[in-house]
Amino acid sequence: MLFDERPKENREDLFDREKEIKEIMSNINRPLILITGVRRIGKTSVLKVALNELKIPYVIIDCRNLRPNYSRGDLYSLFSNALSSKLSTFLDVLSKIRGISILGNSVELKWKGREYVSLSDLFDHLNEKRIVIGIDEAQKLRGPLSNEIREAIAHAYDYDRNLTFILTGSEVGLLHDFLGVEDSRSPLYGRYYYEITLERFDKEKSQQFLRKGFEELSLKVEESVIQDIIAMVDGIPGWLTFAGNQYFNNKDLKKVKDIAINVALNEINSLISIKNNVSTIVAKRYRTVLRCIAKGMNSWSKIVNCLQDEEGSTISSSVLSNILNTLEKLSIIDENYEFLDPVYKEASKMLRN
Ligand code: ADP
Ligand code: MG
Repeated sequence: MLFDERPKENREDLFDREKEIKEIMSNINRPLILITGVRRIGKTSVLKVALNELKIPYVIIDCRNLRPNYSRGDLYSLFSNALSSKLSTFLDVLSKIRGISILGNSVELKWKGREYVSLSDLFDHLNEKRIVIGIDEAQKLRGPLSNEIREAIAHAYDYDRNLTFILTGSEVGLLHDFLGVEDSRSPLYGRYYYEITLERFDKEKSQQFLRKGFEELSLKVEESVIQDIIAMVDGIPGWLTFAGNQYFNNKDLKKVKDIAINVALNEINSLISIKNNVSTIVAKRYRTVLRCIAKGMNSWSKIVNCLQDEEGSTISSSVLSNILNTLEKLSIIDENYEFLDPVYKEASKMLRN
Protein backbone atom coordinates (compact mmCIF):
# COMPACT_ATOMS: atom_id res chain seq x y z
CA MET A 1 0.00 0.00 0.00
CA LEU A 2 1.48 3.28 -1.14
CA PHE A 3 -0.11 5.28 1.67
CA ASP A 4 1.18 3.01 4.43
CA GLU A 5 2.96 5.42 6.75
CA ARG A 6 5.71 3.05 7.83
CA PRO A 7 8.93 2.96 5.82
CA LYS A 8 8.42 0.62 2.88
CA GLU A 9 10.26 -2.70 2.84
CA ASN A 10 9.26 -4.30 -0.43
CA ARG A 11 9.83 -3.16 -3.92
CA GLU A 12 6.16 -3.43 -4.90
CA ASP A 13 5.23 -0.92 -2.18
CA LEU A 14 7.91 1.55 -3.20
CA PHE A 15 7.01 4.07 -5.86
CA ASP A 16 9.75 4.86 -8.37
CA ARG A 17 13.35 5.05 -6.98
CA GLU A 18 14.55 2.35 -9.41
CA LYS A 19 17.62 4.38 -10.18
CA GLU A 20 18.59 4.82 -6.54
CA ILE A 21 18.01 1.16 -5.67
CA LYS A 22 20.17 0.18 -8.62
CA GLU A 23 22.83 2.61 -7.52
CA ILE A 24 22.96 1.06 -4.07
CA MET A 25 23.10 -2.43 -5.51
CA SER A 26 25.93 -1.64 -7.87
CA ASN A 27 27.99 0.07 -5.17
CA ILE A 28 27.34 -2.45 -2.45
CA ASN A 29 30.93 -3.64 -2.36
CA ARG A 30 32.19 -0.28 -1.20
CA PRO A 31 32.93 0.12 2.50
CA LEU A 32 30.81 3.20 3.10
CA ILE A 33 27.66 4.49 1.43
CA LEU A 34 25.52 7.46 2.46
CA ILE A 35 21.85 7.99 1.69
CA THR A 36 20.93 11.60 2.33
CA GLY A 37 17.95 13.86 1.80
CA VAL A 38 15.39 15.92 3.63
CA ARG A 39 13.10 14.33 6.25
CA ARG A 40 10.39 12.09 4.70
CA ILE A 41 12.08 11.87 1.32
CA GLY A 42 12.26 8.07 1.61
CA LYS A 43 15.76 7.24 2.89
CA THR A 44 14.74 4.49 5.28
CA SER A 45 12.39 3.03 2.69
CA VAL A 46 15.02 2.99 -0.03
CA LEU A 47 17.56 1.47 2.36
CA LYS A 48 15.20 -1.30 3.45
CA VAL A 49 13.97 -2.12 -0.03
CA ALA A 50 17.52 -2.22 -1.40
CA LEU A 51 18.67 -4.49 1.43
CA ASN A 52 15.75 -6.83 0.91
CA GLU A 53 16.52 -7.02 -2.80
CA LEU A 54 20.20 -7.69 -2.25
CA LYS A 55 19.78 -10.90 -0.32
CA ILE A 56 22.88 -10.14 1.74
CA PRO A 57 22.46 -10.51 5.52
CA TYR A 58 22.02 -7.12 7.16
CA VAL A 59 21.21 -5.34 10.39
CA ILE A 60 19.83 -1.84 10.74
CA ILE A 61 20.85 0.22 13.72
CA ASP A 62 18.00 2.65 14.25
CA CYS A 63 19.34 5.87 15.77
CA ARG A 64 16.20 7.92 15.24
CA ASN A 65 15.33 8.15 18.91
CA LEU A 66 18.79 8.53 20.36
CA ARG A 67 18.99 11.39 22.88
CA PRO A 68 21.71 14.01 22.36
CA ASN A 69 23.47 12.95 25.56
CA TYR A 70 22.99 9.26 25.03
CA SER A 71 24.81 6.85 27.30
CA ARG A 72 26.86 3.82 26.42
CA GLY A 73 23.90 1.77 27.57
CA ASP A 74 21.66 3.53 25.06
CA LEU A 75 24.16 2.91 22.29
CA TYR A 76 24.63 -0.75 23.10
CA SER A 77 20.86 -1.18 23.34
CA LEU A 78 20.55 -0.08 19.72
CA PHE A 79 22.99 -2.79 18.67
CA SER A 80 21.33 -5.32 20.91
CA ASN A 81 17.88 -4.56 19.48
CA ALA A 82 19.13 -4.66 15.92
CA LEU A 83 20.97 -7.96 16.38
CA SER A 84 18.10 -9.51 18.34
CA SER A 85 15.74 -8.79 15.47
CA LYS A 86 18.02 -10.78 13.16
CA LEU A 87 19.01 -13.46 15.61
CA SER A 88 18.63 -16.44 13.33
CA THR A 89 20.89 -14.83 10.72
CA PHE A 90 23.68 -14.05 13.14
CA LEU A 91 23.34 -16.73 15.79
CA ASP A 92 26.40 -18.70 14.73
CA VAL A 93 28.65 -15.63 14.67
CA LEU A 94 27.28 -14.03 17.81
CA SER A 95 27.43 -17.11 19.97
CA LYS A 96 31.22 -17.12 19.63
CA ILE A 97 31.82 -13.56 20.78
CA ARG A 98 33.07 -12.81 24.25
CA GLY A 99 30.85 -10.29 25.98
CA ILE A 100 27.76 -11.38 24.08
CA SER A 101 25.16 -13.75 25.45
CA ILE A 102 22.03 -15.00 23.83
CA LEU A 103 19.05 -15.28 26.14
CA GLY A 104 15.94 -16.61 24.48
CA ASN A 105 15.28 -14.28 21.58
CA SER A 106 17.54 -11.52 22.67
CA VAL A 107 21.17 -10.61 22.39
CA GLU A 108 22.85 -9.08 25.44
CA LEU A 109 26.01 -7.04 24.99
CA LYS A 110 28.39 -6.22 27.84
CA TRP A 111 30.22 -2.94 27.71
CA LYS A 112 32.21 -3.16 30.90
CA GLY A 113 33.83 -5.65 33.22
CA ARG A 114 36.39 -8.25 32.29
CA GLU A 115 34.39 -9.73 29.47
CA TYR A 116 33.10 -6.88 27.39
CA VAL A 117 32.75 -6.37 23.69
CA SER A 118 33.92 -3.20 21.97
CA LEU A 119 32.29 -2.04 18.76
CA SER A 120 35.49 -2.83 16.87
CA ASP A 121 35.47 -6.38 18.25
CA LEU A 122 31.88 -6.73 17.24
CA PHE A 123 32.58 -5.54 13.69
CA ASP A 124 35.62 -7.83 13.39
CA HIS A 125 33.47 -10.81 14.33
CA LEU A 126 30.58 -9.86 12.08
CA ASN A 127 33.17 -9.68 9.31
CA GLU A 128 33.22 -13.50 9.27
CA LYS A 129 30.25 -13.19 6.96
CA ARG A 130 29.37 -10.79 4.22
CA ILE A 131 27.16 -8.32 6.05
CA VAL A 132 25.66 -4.90 5.46
CA ILE A 133 25.32 -2.67 8.50
CA GLY A 134 22.72 0.03 8.02
CA ILE A 135 22.77 2.97 10.42
CA ASP A 136 19.58 4.97 10.16
CA GLU A 137 19.82 8.70 10.98
CA ALA A 138 23.49 8.27 11.82
CA GLN A 139 24.07 11.95 12.65
CA LYS A 140 22.36 11.21 15.96
CA LEU A 141 25.51 9.35 16.95
CA ARG A 142 27.24 12.68 17.33
CA GLY A 143 27.84 13.50 20.93
CA PRO A 144 29.62 11.78 23.79
CA LEU A 145 30.70 8.58 22.06
CA SER A 146 31.07 9.81 18.53
CA ASN A 147 34.82 9.43 18.40
CA GLU A 148 34.71 5.85 19.56
CA ILE A 149 32.07 5.02 16.96
CA ARG A 150 34.01 6.75 14.20
CA GLU A 151 37.09 4.83 15.23
CA ALA A 152 35.22 1.55 15.07
CA ILE A 153 33.85 2.39 11.64
CA ALA A 154 37.31 3.53 10.46
CA HIS A 155 38.82 0.29 11.74
CA ALA A 156 36.19 -1.74 9.92
CA TYR A 157 36.68 0.39 6.81
CA ASP A 158 40.36 -0.61 6.75
CA TYR A 159 40.28 -4.20 7.96
CA ASP A 160 36.82 -5.72 7.63
CA ARG A 161 36.47 -6.27 3.92
CA ASN A 162 33.20 -8.16 4.29
CA LEU A 163 31.39 -5.27 5.88
CA THR A 164 29.58 -2.48 4.12
CA PHE A 165 28.17 0.43 6.09
CA ILE A 166 25.17 2.32 4.74
CA LEU A 167 24.40 5.45 6.71
CA THR A 168 21.32 7.57 6.25
CA GLY A 169 20.86 11.13 7.48
CA SER A 170 18.18 13.81 7.33
CA GLU A 171 20.43 16.41 8.89
CA VAL A 172 22.92 16.25 6.12
CA GLY A 173 25.40 18.83 7.39
CA LEU A 174 25.52 17.15 10.76
CA LEU A 175 26.04 13.75 9.18
CA HIS A 176 29.02 15.04 7.21
CA ASP A 177 30.37 16.66 10.38
CA PHE A 178 29.95 13.42 12.27
CA LEU A 179 31.98 11.44 9.74
CA GLY A 180 34.57 14.17 9.45
CA VAL A 181 36.25 12.90 6.29
CA GLU A 182 37.52 16.44 5.77
CA ASP A 183 38.62 16.86 9.36
CA SER A 184 42.21 15.82 9.97
CA ARG A 185 41.38 14.97 13.60
CA SER A 186 38.72 12.45 12.60
CA PRO A 187 39.64 8.76 12.36
CA LEU A 188 37.70 8.73 9.09
CA TYR A 189 39.76 11.57 7.64
CA GLY A 190 40.33 11.18 3.93
CA ARG A 191 38.17 8.09 3.54
CA TYR A 192 35.96 7.96 0.47
CA TYR A 193 32.25 7.42 0.69
CA TYR A 194 29.65 7.03 -2.03
CA GLU A 195 26.70 9.36 -1.47
CA ILE A 196 23.22 8.98 -2.88
CA THR A 197 20.99 12.01 -2.45
CA LEU A 198 17.27 11.43 -2.73
CA GLU A 199 15.40 14.19 -4.53
CA ARG A 200 11.73 15.02 -4.31
CA PHE A 201 9.28 13.82 -6.97
CA ASP A 202 8.46 16.21 -9.79
CA LYS A 203 4.84 17.28 -10.36
CA GLU A 204 4.04 14.43 -12.67
CA LYS A 205 5.44 11.75 -10.38
CA SER A 206 3.69 13.31 -7.40
CA GLN A 207 0.42 13.16 -9.33
CA GLN A 208 0.93 9.54 -10.27
CA PHE A 209 1.84 8.72 -6.69
CA LEU A 210 -1.33 10.26 -5.27
CA ARG A 211 -3.60 8.81 -7.95
CA LYS A 212 -2.20 5.35 -7.42
CA GLY A 213 -2.47 5.66 -3.64
CA PHE A 214 -6.10 6.77 -3.77
CA GLU A 215 -6.89 4.06 -6.29
CA GLU A 216 -5.54 1.44 -3.93
CA LEU A 217 -7.95 2.78 -1.32
CA SER A 218 -10.76 2.82 -3.92
CA LEU A 219 -11.33 6.49 -3.31
CA LYS A 220 -12.30 8.73 -6.18
CA VAL A 221 -10.83 12.21 -5.77
CA GLU A 222 -11.13 15.35 -7.84
CA GLU A 223 -8.10 16.51 -9.77
CA SER A 224 -8.19 19.73 -7.74
CA VAL A 225 -7.57 17.78 -4.54
CA ILE A 226 -4.52 16.18 -6.08
CA GLN A 227 -3.25 19.56 -7.22
CA ASP A 228 -3.85 21.16 -3.83
CA ILE A 229 -1.93 18.44 -2.02
CA ILE A 230 0.98 18.78 -4.42
CA ALA A 231 1.02 22.55 -3.97
CA MET A 232 1.17 22.02 -0.23
CA VAL A 233 3.96 19.44 0.00
CA ASP A 234 6.07 19.84 -3.12
CA GLY A 235 6.91 16.26 -4.05
CA ILE A 236 8.17 15.01 -0.69
CA PRO A 237 6.89 11.40 -0.66
CA GLY A 238 6.40 11.21 3.10
CA TRP A 239 4.13 14.25 3.07
CA LEU A 240 2.29 12.94 -0.01
CA THR A 241 1.70 9.72 1.93
CA PHE A 242 0.64 11.59 5.04
CA ALA A 243 -1.70 13.92 3.19
CA GLY A 244 -3.18 11.07 1.15
CA ASN A 245 -3.93 9.14 4.29
CA GLN A 246 -5.36 12.07 6.18
CA TYR A 247 -7.53 13.02 3.23
CA PHE A 248 -8.83 9.48 3.02
CA ASN A 249 -9.77 9.67 6.70
CA ASN A 250 -11.44 13.06 6.88
CA LYS A 251 -12.00 14.28 3.29
CA ASP A 252 -11.20 17.81 4.37
CA LEU A 253 -8.17 19.47 2.81
CA LYS A 254 -8.07 22.33 5.27
CA LYS A 255 -7.92 19.87 8.14
CA VAL A 256 -5.22 17.84 6.38
CA LYS A 257 -3.13 20.95 6.06
CA ASP A 258 -3.62 21.95 9.70
CA ILE A 259 -2.62 18.53 10.95
CA ALA A 260 0.50 18.45 8.76
CA ILE A 261 1.51 21.89 9.97
CA ASN A 262 1.06 20.80 13.55
CA VAL A 263 3.25 17.77 13.04
CA ALA A 264 5.92 19.96 11.47
CA LEU A 265 5.62 22.52 14.25
CA ASN A 266 6.34 19.88 16.88
CA GLU A 267 9.31 18.62 14.93
CA ILE A 268 10.76 22.10 14.52
CA ASN A 269 10.41 22.85 18.20
CA SER A 270 12.10 19.66 19.19
CA LEU A 271 14.90 20.17 16.65
CA ILE A 272 15.58 23.59 18.10
CA SER A 273 15.55 22.54 21.72
CA ILE A 274 17.47 19.29 21.26
CA LYS A 275 20.10 20.82 19.10
CA ASN A 276 21.07 23.49 21.48
CA ASN A 277 20.36 22.29 24.95
CA VAL A 278 19.52 25.87 24.67
CA SER A 279 18.63 28.61 26.99
CA THR A 280 15.13 29.84 26.35
CA ILE A 281 16.50 33.06 24.96
CA VAL A 282 18.45 31.32 22.22
CA ALA A 283 15.54 29.01 21.40
CA LYS A 284 13.40 32.10 21.08
CA ARG A 285 15.89 33.59 18.66
CA TYR A 286 15.83 30.45 16.53
CA ARG A 287 12.07 30.74 16.34
CA THR A 288 12.24 34.39 15.37
CA VAL A 289 14.81 33.72 12.67
CA LEU A 290 12.69 30.91 11.26
CA ARG A 291 9.62 33.11 11.27
CA CYS A 292 11.52 35.84 9.44
CA ILE A 293 12.74 33.43 6.78
CA ALA A 294 9.27 31.94 6.42
CA LYS A 295 7.92 35.42 5.78
CA GLY A 296 10.29 35.68 2.82
CA MET A 297 13.41 37.32 4.22
CA ASN A 298 15.94 35.68 1.95
CA SER A 299 19.15 37.60 2.47
CA TRP A 300 21.47 38.23 5.37
CA SER A 301 20.53 41.90 5.65
CA LYS A 302 16.78 41.24 5.51
CA ILE A 303 17.07 38.62 8.21
CA VAL A 304 19.18 40.84 10.47
CA ASN A 305 16.70 43.68 10.12
CA CYS A 306 13.73 41.44 10.75
CA LEU A 307 15.35 39.88 13.82
CA GLN A 308 16.42 43.25 15.22
CA ASP A 309 12.95 44.70 14.66
CA GLU A 310 11.28 41.81 16.45
CA GLU A 311 13.66 41.86 19.36
CA GLY A 312 14.07 45.61 19.55
CA SER A 313 17.76 45.10 20.03
CA THR A 314 20.96 44.97 18.04
CA ILE A 315 22.08 41.44 17.24
CA SER A 316 25.69 40.39 16.92
CA SER A 317 26.45 39.00 13.51
CA SER A 318 28.30 36.01 14.93
CA VAL A 319 25.17 35.02 16.84
CA LEU A 320 23.02 35.21 13.74
CA SER A 321 25.61 33.47 11.65
CA ASN A 322 25.71 30.65 14.16
CA ILE A 323 21.94 30.24 14.08
CA LEU A 324 21.77 30.23 10.28
CA ASN A 325 24.62 27.80 10.06
CA THR A 326 22.92 25.43 12.46
CA LEU A 327 19.60 25.65 10.62
CA GLU A 328 21.44 24.76 7.44
CA LYS A 329 23.21 21.79 9.04
CA LEU A 330 19.87 20.59 10.34
CA SER A 331 18.63 20.68 6.74
CA ILE A 332 15.83 23.05 7.63
CA ILE A 333 17.03 25.78 5.25
CA ASP A 334 19.49 25.82 2.36
CA GLU A 335 22.37 28.19 1.65
CA ASN A 336 19.98 30.66 0.01
CA TYR A 337 17.87 30.94 3.15
CA GLU A 338 15.03 28.95 1.62
CA PHE A 339 13.13 26.22 3.45
CA LEU A 340 13.78 22.72 2.14
CA ASP A 341 10.29 21.64 3.15
CA PRO A 342 7.23 23.77 2.35
CA VAL A 343 5.30 22.36 5.30
CA TYR A 344 8.12 23.44 7.62
CA LYS A 345 7.88 26.86 6.04
CA GLU A 346 4.16 27.14 6.72
CA ALA A 347 4.67 25.85 10.26
CA SER A 348 7.44 28.36 10.91
CA LYS A 349 5.05 31.21 10.23
CA MET A 350 3.12 30.00 13.26
CA LEU A 351 6.07 29.70 15.64
CA ARG A 352 5.35 31.65 18.80
CA ASN A 353 7.84 32.93 21.29
P1 ADP B 1 12.94 9.18 5.52
O1 ADP B 1 13.64 7.98 6.08
O2 ADP B 1 13.71 9.87 4.45
O3 ADP B 1 12.48 10.14 6.58
P2 ADP B 1 10.83 7.29 4.99
O4 ADP B 1 11.46 6.19 4.22
O5 ADP B 1 10.53 7.05 6.42
O6 ADP B 1 11.63 8.66 4.79
O7 ADP B 1 9.50 7.68 4.23
C1 ADP B 1 8.58 8.62 4.76
C2 ADP B 1 7.18 8.16 4.40
O8 ADP B 1 6.98 8.22 3.00
C3 ADP B 1 6.85 6.73 4.78
O9 ADP B 1 5.50 6.68 5.09
C4 ADP B 1 7.10 5.95 3.51
O10 ADP B 1 6.30 4.83 3.46
C5 ADP B 1 6.73 6.96 2.44
N1 ADP B 1 7.55 6.86 1.23
C6 ADP B 1 8.75 7.48 1.02
N2 ADP B 1 9.23 7.22 -0.20
C7 ADP B 1 8.32 6.43 -0.79
C8 ADP B 1 8.22 5.84 -2.09
N3 ADP B 1 9.18 6.00 -3.00
N4 ADP B 1 7.12 5.08 -2.36
C9 ADP B 1 6.17 4.91 -1.44
N5 ADP B 1 6.18 5.45 -0.22
C10 ADP B 1 7.24 6.21 0.10
MG1 MG C 1 14.08 7.53 8.02
